[in-house]
Amino acid sequence: MTPTGQQICYVDAYARSAEARVVAVDRDAATLVVLDRTVFYPGGGGQPSDRGLLFRTAGGRSWTVRAARKVDGEIAHELEPEDGDPPAPGDMVRVHLDWARRLALMRTHTALHALCGVVWRDYGALVTGGNMEPGSGRMDFEFERMSGDLVDAIEASVNAELVAGRDVRVAVLPRDEAFAIPDLIRTKVNLLPEGIEEIRTIEIVGLDLQADGGTHVANTRDVGVMKVTGYESKGRINKRIRIALLDA
Ligand SMILES: [Zn+2]
Repeated sequence: MTPTGQQICYVDAYARSAEARVVAVDRDAATLVVLDRTVFYPGGGGQPSDRGLLFRTAGGRSWTVRAARKVDGEIAHELEPEDGDPPAPGDMVRVHLDWARRLALMRTHTALHALCGVVWRDYGALVTGGNMEPGSGRMDFEFERMSGDLVDAIEASVNAELVAGRDVRVAVLPRDEAFAIPDLIRTKVNLLPEGIEEIRTIEIVGLDLQADGGTHVANTRDVGVMKVTGYESKGRINKRIRIALLDA
C-alpha cells in the first residue's frame, strides 16, 4: 500500500521539522494523528520511534507527541492524553522532533551497523537480532568463539572504522536487484515480507551494506567513539554484544 502522507525520515534523516496538514485523527485507545507529511520515524528494525511536539499554526496550541507508529502504511503520531482535545482534520500544524534524542538514535544505529560490518568481515558471524535506545544498544550474533579478547579487538576495529570517516548512503532498490547483492540479506532470518517491491538499503561505504528502514548519520565520523559495555552468552552459539556511545 502506498501511503498518502509524505514520509521524510526515509529520504532526509536530518530534517527536524515540517509544516503539515492534519489528514486524520483517531481517538480510540490512544489519540493518533496522521499528517500529509512528517519527519517522524515510526519505529522498527530495533530503532524506537521518535518523540516531539506538534504545534497548531492558528491559536498557538501545542501537543506532546509521545510516540509514533505505522498504521495501514501511514505514520501516526500518538499524542499525550493529558494534552486535551487533539487538532482537527484540515488544521495546519508544525511537527518538531526531539532532535537530541533522534540524533543519539541515529548515531547509535550507525554504530550498530559498523559493529555488524566488522563482525561479519573479520569473523563471518551472522546477526540474529538487535535493539537500541538513544546512546546504547545490543546486537546478537551466531558467534560461537566470541571471548573477552575478541570483544576488545572488535571495539578497536569498529572505532577505527568510525574515525575513517566512511560515508553512509541510503538507496532504494528494486527487489530483484537488492536480492542479487551477495551478503545484503545477512541477518539470520530473512525479515523482509513477501510482496515488497522495493528494498531500502543502508551502506557504510567500504564496510557494510544492509536492508534497513532506520535513520542514520551521514558519515561514520558523526557517530563519535563507541565502547563495548558488555557481552554475554545466550547459548553455545548465540552471543550478545552491548555497546554505548562514549558521550551518551
Ligand atoms: Zn539497522
